[in-house]
Amino acid sequence: NSQLNSAYTFENYIEGDCNRLARSAGYAVANKPGTTSFNPLMVYGGVGLGKTHLVQAIGNHIKNSNPDKFVLYVSSEKFVNQFIESLKTNNVQDFANFYLLVDILIIDDVQFLSGKEKTQEMFFHIFNHLHQSGKQIVMTSDCPPRDLKGLEERLLSRFKWGLTADLQSPDFETRMAIIQKKMQGDGIDIPDNVVEYLAYSVDTNVRELEGVLISLIAQSSLNRKEIDLELAKQALKHIIEDVETEVNLDFIQKTVAEYFQVSLDSLKAKTRKKEIVTARQVAMYFAKEFTSHSLKSIGYHFGGRDHSTVIHSVQTVSDLIDTDKKFKASIQELQKKFKSKAG
Ligand code: ADP
Ligand code: MG
Repeated sequence: NSQLNSAYTFENYIEGDCNRLARSAGYAVANKPGTTSFNPLMVYGGVGLGKTHLVQAIGNHIKNSNPDKFVLYVSSEKFVNQFIESLKTNNVQDFANFYLLVDILIIDDVQFLSGKEKTQEMFFHIFNHLHQSGKQIVMTSDCPPRDLKGLEERLLSRFKWGLTADLQSPDFETRMAIIQKKMQGDGIDIPDNVVEYLAYSVDTNVRELEGVLISLIAQSSLNRKEIDLELAKQALKHIIEDVETEVNLDFIQKTVAEYFQVSLDSLKAKTRKKEIVTARQVAMYFAKEFTSHSLKSIGYHFGGRDHSTVIHSVQTVSDLIDTDKKFKASIQELQKKFKSKAG
């Protein structure tokens, strides 16, 4: 049993600027395991960015084209637990022998090995043996190897023999493509404006994006309603409230609008009246300070402005804070409100 999940393939792994190097290195390894210079292949990146999907896709690809190869996927956590179990039951040799038979070893989340010296020793032994025999090793980690605290230097130096490639947060276009592909795969219609809205709003990681889509599909079937923008906003509320800090965009816009005594709608409108422009700039300034939204996403939520407008607003507010004492006091007052809410 290879422990592979056949749902993870290259076909449904969307390529984008955020994953291009890792994906193409993975694809090369999948086609020529053990014989490229990408051995080991180490893929690192934050949570939900597609590490497990990518390395599973490598495993599935190899297994499908070489049915006689022994491909093994194992999480580092499982590796550690199996090893500890083998120590308890005096079966360490069996444990080692099993891993020495593997042709392609995929080991996920190696940061989990940190501080576990005995397990690392065993892994070092297995690694050397497999590598010397021309077997492919693929690993993932949640941080670059140089930041893997609690891992032995001799093991870290082995990781550098091959290729290290990172996964970045998906960019806007990749998020659009992922949403379209997932919904297509489920045979669900989603209008373009909803795809765009979601791609703008959820810019942290792919897992969160999937969570929103699941919630959206559930809402749609619960309400017996086609997917539209209104439903998408509802679905997003359910998810984002848990994830984001208390100080979200809505709260910032409402608070700032109230403070400057302008209407909430005007912050998102095209109007260039001076008092509204100032309120809008201040709200953008706080959106940047207190939320995790990208500049692009902030602009989108202020009436579809582009990211350079957001940069300009933040700059203008910073300049005013430096030159205008009264203005500075207002900003500090607002800041207090947000800080106390953020806790
Ligand atoms: P990680 O292991 O880095 O935490 P996962 O591989 O579990 O992340 O990915 C989280 C979810 O996002 C999975 O359901 C995966 O299929 C999906 N996913 C991640 N990256 C992509 C991508 N480029 N294309 C399609 N789906 C992706
Ligand atoms: Mg993972």
